[in-house]
Amino acid sequence: MQYRAWFQCIKQECGTTYPLNKIIYSCETCGSLLEVRHDMNALSRRDAKAWMKLFEDRYKSNQWPFGSGVWGKKEWILPQISDENIVSLYEGGTNLFWAERFGKIIGLDNLWIKLCGNSHSGSFKDLGMTVLVSQVKQMISEGAPIKAVVCASTGDTSAALSVYCAAAGIPSIVLLPRGKISIAQLVQPISTGSLVLSLDTDFDGCMRVVQEITKDETLYLANSMNSLRIEGQKTVGIEIVQQFDWQTPDVIIIPGGNLGNVSALGSGLLMMKDLGIIPRLPRIVVAQAERANPLYRSYLEDFATFRPMQAEKTLASAIQIGNPVSVEKAIRTLRRFEGVVMDATEQELADAAALGDITGMFNCPHTGVALAALIKLVRSGKIDKSEHVVVISTAHGLKFTDFKVSYHEEKLDFPSRYSHRPVEVPASVDAVKEALHHALKNRRTADDL
Ligand SMILES: *Cc1c(COP(=O)(O)O)cnc(C)c1O
Ligand SMILES: [Zn+2]
Repeated sequence: MQYRAWFQCIKQECGTTYPLNKIIYSCETCGSLLEVRHDMNALSRRDAKAWMKLFEDRYKSNQWPFGSGVWGKKEWILPQISDENIVSLYEGGTNLFWAERFGKIIGLDNLWIKLCGNSHSGSFKDLGMTVLVSQVKQMISEGAPIKAVVCASTGDTSAALSVYCAAAGIPSIVLLPRGKISIAQLVQPISTGSLVLSLDTDFDGCMRVVQEITKDETLYLANSMNSLRIEGQKTVGIEIVQQFDWQTPDVIIIPGGNLGNVSALGSGLLMMKDLGIIPRLPRIVVAQAERANPLYRSYLEDFATFRPMQAEKTLASAIQIGNPVSVEKAIRTLRRFEGVVMDATEQELADAAALGDITGMFNCPHTGVALAALIKLVRSGKIDKSEHVVVISTAHGLKFTDFKVSYHEEKLDFPSRYSHRPVEVPASVDAVKEALHHALKNRRTADDL
């Protein structure tokens, strides 16, 4: 086999390595998280131009499994897996669009949205889950004793896990915090046949339980502390650069909860830099909800300390996490990428999401957090008008209709700045004409908001 990858302890002074088909989530020597490392010498034998050409030839093609945004980059992800074990639902390849009107309102010329929610289960979690479930299938085919794959989730991880396992015919188990995820998210693992366990706790509580039960090797852990997930998710940064014809943007903003995704973003970008595809790195901004902002608090002290916190209820439910598993990886990433961390209040995130919607987006609350961070950074001059900025939109807005309905019905505990309601009119032409006349006269356009 030409290319090779393995698990390696993230602590440089330890650096213990393990094969990818070992059932392991943290270092046996020192207890730190692991990461997947690649034989970069082997990869660098193919030059940057040749990699770009290969990735372009495969991108969205019908050449299974390489048309997938993840598996099109297989050599950089899981080079040793055999194609017959790949469980792909054609993930990645999501649209990256110019948010011209929103950018103009907040004073940015070059704002782009990477819509990761336009995917099979409706969030970026598909990118990581295709890799993890494929590796599980490979391990089962080699005789590993895995009976089911299990995760704790704030909603989207369980949706992705359950659908990939269903596609592969592998049993899955999801642990969810009761009453803390949206109906749309809950119905996904139910429909796809996972064993759904609803626990009377929050995400951090579910995470503690899942770490205990997966000490039993027959239950394989699918949370992002399992670095196989990161390998798939790292394609988001690579894909953004590819979509810009291999140009690096200046700033990428990403909402963060358990902090696996920001490390993934960094990892893909670093790989491109190491292999000569991009000459420089963008700045990375992590955006957190103020009610679950342990990374932001640490950032204010230049990461000198990190203290987990009790996360409070936030509309950005997928990032309501007080004790992020991947914090060390995230801080390491932020140090490499001139990182900034911001937070957003409930009102800021909800209004930013709604402002995005009236300029043609359809945002989930987490994307609202990222947009709110962007607005504040532009206002304070930390992002310049001329900079090329990408906001990573992490989930589809349709998963969070309850959030949107409460916002527009003004049922939240703050005023909704951009609320909008249907007008009830009698079923007569005159009444409709009257309503139209009134509405068009008072039309509020986003440009004078
Ligand atoms: C999982 C998730 C996040 C946070 O990603 P982390 O890797 O946990 O930081 C953000 N937004 C959505 C919609 C998610 O599902
Ligand atoms: Zn170690």
